[in-house]
Amino acid sequence: MIQNLMRDHSWLQSKLEELLKTYFADVPITNPIEIKWGREAKFRFGSIKLEGGRRILKLRAFGGLFTRKIEMQESSDKKLPKKSIITITSMFKNEDVPVDVVCYTICHELTHYAHGFSSTNKRMFKHPHHGGVVNAEIQKRGGTNFVKAYQLWLKEYRRQILAGRRRI
Ligand SMILES: [Zn+2]
Repeated sequence: MIQNLMRDHSWLQSKLEELLKTYFADVPITNPIEIKWGREAKFRFGSIKLEGGRRILKLRAFGGLFTRKIEMQESSDKKLPKKSIITITSMFKNEDVPVDVVCYTICHELTHYAHGFSSTNKRMFKHPHHGGVVNAEIQKRGGTNFVKAYQLWLKEYRRQILAGRRRI
């Protein structure tokens, strides 16, 4: 059997599903989760944002005619279902980056989701990274190997950046 080992979209999608099932099975999926590769970033490896719903309301600060237009957009936007979108840096498509580092990053974003950040789950903390809650949560769920792999990789990555041996 020929296996597709490339880190393409379906590879990333299957990692998300596998990690959700294995480590986050008890977390209520109050809104759907999507995952995609994003632009390469030096120190932001993953992110999660909530889209849809009434998000456009923020734009109301604008005045005059423009406001009316925005309000019209708003009312149609309300119909959009909410979804969380996880973005992973395309730098991690490179197979020199251990798979566990990619898994860590996905688990990190799923932890935010579980804690009610960029998701419609109940918010459990004031700040998403309050007192090391992310790594503690991943470890509690059995992902200590991911945390360790990430810390090890990050140390070497930082060293290479500082030594100017890696450019992005
Ligand atoms: Zn985070």
